[in-house]
Parts: sequence; structure tokens; C-alpha cells
Amino acid sequence: MPPTVLPPAAAASAVDPEAILGRQAARESAARTYARSLPIVPVRARGMTVEGADGRRYLDCLSGAGSLALGHNHPVALQAIREVLDSGAPLHVLDLATPVKDEFTTELFASLPEEFARDARIQFCGPAGTDAVEAALKLVRTATGRSGLLAFTGAYHGMTAGALAAGGDSTAGTGPGGSVGRPVRLPFPYDYRCPFGLGGPEAARIAACWTESLLADPKGGVEPAAGMIVEPVQGEGGVVPAPDAWLREMRRITAAHGIPLIVDEVQTGVGRTGAFWAVQHSGVLPDVMVLSKAIGGSLPLAAIVYRGELDVWAPGAHAGTFRGNQLAMAAGAATLRFVRAERLAERAAALGERMLARLRALHCLLPAMGDVRGRGLMLGVEIVDPQADADALGARPAAPELAAAVRQEALQRGLIVELGGRHHSVVRLLPPLTMTDEQSEAVLERLGEAVHAASAAHRTVPAARAGECG
Ligand code: PMP
Repeated sequence: MPPTVLPPAAAASAVDPEAILGRQAARESAARTYARSLPIVPVRARGMTVEGADGRRYLDCLSGAGSLALGHNHPVALQAIREVLDSGAPLHVLDLATPVKDEFTTELFASLPEEFARDARIQFCGPAGTDAVEAALKLVRTATGRSGLLAFTGAYHGMTAGALAAGGDSTAGTGPGGSVGRPVRLPFPYDYRCPFGLGGPEAARIAACWTESLLADPKGGVEPAAGMIVEPVQGEGGVVPAPDAWLREMRRITAAHGIPLIVDEVQTGVGRTGAFWAVQHSGVLPDVMVLSKAIGGSLPLAAIVYRGELDVWAPGAHAGTFRGNQLAMAAGAATLRFVRAERLAERAAALGERMLARLRALHCLLPAMGDVRGRGLMLGVEIVDPQADADALGARPAAPELAAAVRQEALQRGLIVELGGRHHSVVRLLPPLTMTDEQSEAVLERLGEAVHAASAAHRTVPAARAGECG
């Protein structure tokens, strides 16, 4: 069955979506997130299509926050899960060796940059990206004997205390039980809202200079760093790709100071950005890679992979009951194999380029689209106030309410998107790598209509951008 065709309707008719949503609102935590902005009750899904209990169908550009490289319920993932279930193998094995884990590790190592994989070790973590981030921070602190951390503006690394501290949001998780010791915050290149008022390669060069001079300055106030943690494309921070040359500079600078470089590929991995691992665009070899989301083939799995010489922590230094998720390892191995065999990273690169070109054309017609950017199938549209004055670089103020209205209009048109970014005003597109050309056209059409409708409802906007686009 092609991945985009839904199986015949099951017993969805017995489900009352309004009642379920009502009970959810009454019983679930105030901290729930997607459930607030996407009030749907999914009952079936295949590929990029999700069907709600009310029978409505949606194109899913959220993909489990970027977890579903092959979309929902891909046949190769389902087959791998069924095989484990039918084999009688134990589903819970703590961190014991199993054929399923052995195969996953072999498949994962085969996907990594060869020079990195040759001497790498893997630590399976509790099954969330944030736990793998915690493991990475603990590993480099143990290995270097230092405690400082270098992290970036706009970063997102998860919601547990150490990962939160590494992130750029100073409000998230504050208060009792909130974030712990803050790292040194370094500038991440962000052309549209450039901290140096420049944008482009010169701004990235200055950002690298600042980092280098700060680390070299004995009076710079920087605690000796155990590591630098960076996303090759900031996802939650608003889909901001790191320039390759800048990332190479981060590698050069950290190597010169003996500081391990941790690359957080939780969201960018498994073909998403047009390379199997986003760090491969730049040719940088990290010391630690943080992996989760798509490596589990839609089920929970997280790990760090790191250079052998860092492997100096003690047995049990990072434990967790659920480190051996056999179904996720089976689905993950099948997914990694399929992405490699079908060259889906290349497909993501080509389709992403085409979508970006189409988004740029839309950006000229729809002034609320302040900026469009991305890499591969990790795309972002920054929604701005079209009537506010632009700054010297041409950026207008972010418009979070308008962005929320775009998300709502998109949902009404059968398109699931989420927001991210510094001001929660970047519409993020994370479609599966298996998206067809027709689906990508439908996504762009629905998104364009949604931006148009939301802009019209918000205020009278100029019909088109004057003099900004060629
Ligand atoms: N790192 C990055 C780059 C992420 O995007 C995320 C999740 N969006 C995390 C870490 C945390 O992963 P999890 O939500 O599974 O804890």
C-alpha cells in the first residue's frame, strides 16, 4: 500500500471528538501544548495524512515535532514492529544486548560520518531528546573535569533542568525546579534579525570572532568550558540554519581550546535537512552527537554517540529504566535503512529547494511573510506585522497573534503546522521526507491561503509588497 493511502475506516464513528476534547481540557495539565493549538482527535494516519474522529483529513506538516521521517505508520516501520512482536522477543530488556539492538546500532553507525563512526561509542538514554542532552552534558563534564558550558542565543535542547539551562529561553522552566546554572550565551547567526545589524557572511564572521575572543580573554569572565552545544539548524528557535562556514569556525575554535563540540541533531537528523546528518553539510566532525526523534521510526528512542576517548565515565553514570526500547530500535533500524536506500536525504534537499523557491515567490505577494528560510524539509516562515515599519535590515516586528491566526486558518484548510521562533511567530514546516510533489503543492497552496485569510481578517494590508522583491 502506498504510504499516503489511509486504510479503510475503522470504528472511528463510535468516537465523540467534542466529548474527548472536553475531558482532555478538564483533566490534563495546564502545561499541555499542541493539544491547545490543534484541537483535533486523530484516529487514523498514514504517511502525511491524519484523519480526525470527525472524519476530517489533514496534511501533517508537524510530523510529531519532526519525529516522523517517513510519515505516520510507514509500512517498513510497521513491518519491523510486527516482526519483533511476532518473534516472542522480550520487549523490555533494560540495557542488555539483543539482536534488535545490535542491528539498530550497526545501522546507525553505518549512517554516521565514517571517520566519526570508526571510533565511536553509543550510550542509549531514557527515551527523550532532553535526556540525551543531559547525558551529553554529563559526559563532557566528566571527561574534561570542567563545568562551564557554551551555548547559543535561540537554542532549544529540551525541558529537563540541564537541557533547559542550555536553551536560550530565560523564562522557560524558571521558578522552583526550573533551570540550573546558565551557560555562556554566544551569538547564533540569524540573518533576518541580525544582532550586529548586518546579516550575511560578515555577520557570521563577527559572531565567530566574538566567540573566539571571549574564549581567549583571560578576563572574559568565562568559566572553563566542558563543551559547546549547538544545533546545525535551530528548530524551535525559528528554523535558523547555521552557515556551514560558521559551524566550521566553531569546530576550529573549540578544537583549539580542547573543548568538546556537542552537535544536537535531535531534530535535524535522519535526512531532514538534505543530508543524513545536518552536520555533514559543513564537513565538521563533532565530538558528541545527540540523537532522538526520527531515529526511533516514530517510537521513543534517544542516544548519544561520541568519540571513544570521552568514554571515561563510570558504570551507571547515566542510567534509565527505559533505555532498551526494542520496538523503537526495530522501527528505527528499518527507518534508517529505508532513508539510506531510497536516498531520501537527497529527495529532501531537492524538494526543500523547490518549496523554498515557491515560498520566496509567496513572500513577495504576502507582506505578512517577513522571511522564509530553511534547509531541506525543515522550513520556516516568519510572520510579521506587515504595517509596522521595517528596521534598517528590512525586518518588521514579529506578529505572534497573526502567526497564531495563520496556524488556525491552515488547520481549517486541512493543514497542520506549528509555530516556533523567538517570538512564537515562525510557521514551521516539517513534512515527512516521503511527501509527494502533489502534497507539497497542496501544502503551499493551503499555507498561502491561510496567510492571506489571516492577514485580511487582522487588518487592511497592502495588497502586495512594493519595491522589495524583484
Ligand atoms: N534538542 C532539540 C534540537 C529539539 O528540537 C528537541 C525537541 N524539540 C529536544 C532537544 C528535546 O527533545 P524531547 O522533546 O524529546 O525531549
